[in-house]
Amino acid sequence: MTECIFCRIVAGQAPAHEVFDDGEVKAFMDAFPAAPGHVLVIPYRHFENVFDIDAVAMAAVADAVRKTAGAIRRALAPDGLTISQANGAAAGQSVAHYHVHLIPRTQGRKLRSHGTEAAVQAAPLAAMAQRIRAAWSE
Ligand SMILES: [Zn+2]
Repeated sequence: MTECIFCRIVAGQAPAHEVFDDGEVKAFMDAFPAAPGHVLVIPYRHFENVFDIDAVAMAAVADAVRKTAGAIRRALAPDGLTISQANGAAAGQSVAHYHVHLIPRTQGRKLRSHGTEAAVQAAPLAAMAQRIRAAWSE
């Protein structure tokens, strides 16, 4: 079994609160949200970072990010949305599988430091995932 937690999520070997999956890209709730509604978008295939991801996977992720952003906006109506992607530990990358963060923002509110808070309870994450999934096709 792979040790990569995101590969394990793709393989269904680890739980995640999914909001999108097209067989190439998956989007799910970050278990350590920097703000409520924080979603991660990942390619199925394992690439460590921007330096090894291929163009096909990059394009698929980018389109899924665009779609997920729309669903988040319809579901949560945040004041803004931060999209970020870290490469290497020095940049704040904590899982070595390419991923893009979508973080709903509230005017005047700073982000929590990612990964420093214990995972919020599963129930709020599941409810948030449900809200975003429900907004997908609107
Ligand atoms: Zn992986």
